[in-house]
Amino acid sequence: MNTDFIKDAARRLGLTCTGIASAHLPVPETQQPVCPLASGKGRERYDLTALLPHCQAAVVVLFPYYNPDAEKTNLSLYCQLEDYHLVVPAYLEKLAAVLSSYGGTQRCIADTSPLTERLLAVEAGLGFMGDNQCLIHPMYGSYCFIGAVLTTLPLAPDTPMDRECLHCGACRRICPGGCLTDGAYDYRLCKSYLTQKKEELTDTEKAVIARTPLIFGCDECQRVCPHNQDIPITPIPEFRQNRLTMLKKDDLEPLTNRQFRAAYGNRPFSWRGKKILLRNLDIVHAKTGL
Ligand code: SF4
Ligand code: SF4
Repeated sequence: MNTDFIKDAARRLGLTCTGIASAHLPVPETQQPVCPLASGKGRERYDLTALLPHCQAAVVVLFPYYNPDAEKTNLSLYCQLEDYHLVVPAYLEKLAAVLSSYGGTQRCIADTSPLTERLLAVEAGLGFMGDNQCLIHPMYGSYCFIGAVLTTLPLAPDTPMDRECLHCGACRRICPGGCLTDGAYDYRLCKSYLTQKKEELTDTEKAVIARTPLIFGCDECQRVCPHNQDIPITPIPEFRQNRLTMLKKDDLEPLTNRQFRAAYGNRPFSWRGKKILLRNLDIVHAKTGL
């Protein structure tokens, strides 16, 4: 089935990075340990029919979110913006409605399983995998959220790009957790994971968090990547406004949980709650004074 209609519809919504992946994803030969925060586990990470019976294809969309570096910040770039869990599904639902007018059944996924979504984006010809484990788009780099509409319509798939990351090693060298080795990734000492970890942290884990000023997330392996230099600012209006670059102890401490949700409920870090943010602030402050 020709796919111009859905790519045109996406373009009308301002989404210029749209591709089609077949529902039959290649399962990687080597499986890396799955981060406990990943929402998809086991078979459903690769088998789209486990998410949507009779799924035949996925319309995959990138949502670039790059904004120029703030002068001073303690939040990773995606955390400075409105929560993509609120923004992305609204666009996907509109695309699903267009598909539904042609028949079939659709299901929108956004952050259902990060690995599947990166793999879907590669299969849909939207980019290539970096050694930093990010999906890299040739123009927008790796600062992109990925969403997809699974469909039972027999859409013709696109072809993966014939490109690779430069394997320059910059991400491996800068990584505060030392968790990128030989193209593999070990989430256990990834600062991004540790800043979200709820369980008590070991001294080694705290030391990883304290190595850079961010209190939620980590952008180091993206910040230094040559594919992320001189990239355009996000074209998505929701990601160009209402930016929050600093979160201070004084802002958080007096808030009740209800007040915290009212103030920060639209931010990607809010699901983890105030307590973990305050813990991370203390760890970073003890080391950097920030
Ligand atoms: S920093 Fe270098 S090795 Fe790492 S993803 Fe980017 S190009 Fe690849
Ligand atoms: S997010 Fe940070 S800690 Fe995790 S792999 Fe990248 S540089 Fe390393």
